[in-house]
Amino acid sequence: MIKIEHIGIAVKNLENSNQLFAKLFNQSPYKLEMVASEGVSTSFFQIGDNKIELLEATNEESPIYKFIEKKGEGIHHIAFDVKDIQQEMERLKNEGFILLNEIPKKGADNKLVCFLHPKTTNGVLIELCQEILEA
Ligand code: ZN
Repeated sequence: MIKIEHIGIAVKNLENSNQLFAKLFNQSPYKLEMVASEGVSTSFFQIGDNKIELLEATNEESPIYKFIEKKGEGIHHIAFDVKDIQQEMERLKNEGFILLNEIPKKGADNKLVCFLHPKTTNGVLIELCQEILEA
């Protein structure tokens, strides 16, 4: 893993939270993006080298909806930049971590992503992400 790419925060209302975090960071999000396959609306703030992702559920099947029902709003996942997601997934699988998807999927912010089951990572949802290089 190269570095922390972003921290994901689950919120109930993205519009309200965008305003709140814009005040906190003294800047607006650089990107708003819907990821229909995950049932989320997201926004991204750039803080130096790091990013903060806010996630709002767009339906009741969304993992974010379920997370908030169970735990309330708050830190949802930590995402790490990796060079070669396939290789890293293979490595972690061999180390005994449970991958939530066997094939990297298209996430927000132009990334291929894979999540690790929190029960194998001391309760922390870990996201691996690899930048999709433009052709
Ligand atoms: Zn994320």
